[in-house]
Amino acid sequence: MRLNRLKIDFKKLYLRFMNLTQVFEEIYQEIRIEDFESRFLPFSKLKSFLDLNYPEKKLIGKSFLDNDIYLIKIGNGNQKVFGWSQMHGNESTGTRAMFDVFEFLKSENELSQKIKESISLYFVPMLNPDGSNRYSRRNACGIDLNRDYVKESSTEIRALKRTVNEIKPDFLFNLHDQRSIFNVSGSSKPATLSFLAPSPDVQRSVTAARKKSMDVIGYIYKQLETVMPGHIARFSDEFYPTSTGDNFMKAGYTNLLFEAGHFPNDYQRNEVRRFNALAILLALGKISDSKEDDSELYHKIPENDKKSLDIVLRNVSVKSKSAESLIDIGIYFEEKLNLDKQEIEFHSRIEEIGDLSAYFGHLDLDMEGRTWIGKDAMYPEIGKPADFSVGSIHFENGVFKG
Ligand SMILES: [Zn+2]
Repeated sequence: MRLNRLKIDFKKLYLRFMNLTQVFEEIYQEIRIEDFESRFLPFSKLKSFLDLNYPEKKLIGKSFLDNDIYLIKIGNGNQKVFGWSQMHGNESTGTRAMFDVFEFLKSENELSQKIKESISLYFVPMLNPDGSNRYSRRNACGIDLNRDYVKESSTEIRALKRTVNEIKPDFLFNLHDQRSIFNVSGSSKPATLSFLAPSPDVQRSVTAARKKSMDVIGYIYKQLETVMPGHIARFSDEFYPTSTGDNFMKAGYTNLLFEAGHFPNDYQRNEVRRFNALAILLALGKISDSKEDDSELYHKIPENDKKSLDIVLRNVSVKSKSAESLIDIGIYFEEKLNLDKQEIEFHSRIEEIGDLSAYFGHLDLDMEGRTWIGKDAMYPEIGKPADFSVGSIHFENGVFKG
């Protein structure tokens, strides 16, 4: 007993001299929630987790199919930060990351104490439970909630807007996932995390609310570049007249878009989740203790591009009776829910053919002129499953396990 206590005090002392990133990395394995390993996070799983760990959760609305939409909270500070995730049901990384952040804030260390004293953090962990259950972007009746701000056709977006307007947060965090096709502009590295301070109008004006968002994102970039160099990008700030972030900004709410993307060999996005959690935490750290203006750094973040594919096979020979062509083949992994197994499978599909010198493969292979042999086809065809051989290498549509 005595020995244990000494051990804990020693750890506290040790953590005391570290910054937020260092403390997070040090204790991450202790705080991460093992239940959330899979990208498939249906409502039932969230509900049983919340019932057990957050019994004080508040019901803020119902989905189209009558599933609950909840709000949880931690901290008692004056600054109000309000996040939501899975407004697109198949984008669970933000949900999983935010629960890691909550666990961090519950842990005993000086930095989490400090954040809780200056910030009240609110979180809606699954705005679209119906979409989450079927691993779909849209809600049960087909509405993209992120394009429903103005029309308010969905019960889910009404619940979000009502809650935000009641709480009147100082900052909004809009948590999403992006597909593996996004890379950091001019680089072969995938855009593992992308950020946006959305525009409030077509002129892309930098209002006071938007500048605050740029400041926080600039800070996240500065800090995260040391942890994941070259993997951070900035989303296009084109104004989308019906989207949530743009309209919240228009209404004067400072908001940040977080997009979790691909990281090498991490198809279940657990590494990405850790980076995403750290990004959220750094944003909270900045909001709780802002000394400098980092908004200029925002413009230094390279833009998002769409030049990544899951596999690129270069210099593949395809032959007819009279001709031969040397082509590159780009393959994309489409995510599909296997309902029986309750897990996400990755189905490979031919996405692009021809000269792919402008593209980067997460797996990028030079086939050096080896011959393409299709299983049921004479030639490769866009949109078809990757079901072929090149030389002695065999690709089967089958299923790639993340
Ligand atoms: Zn999304």
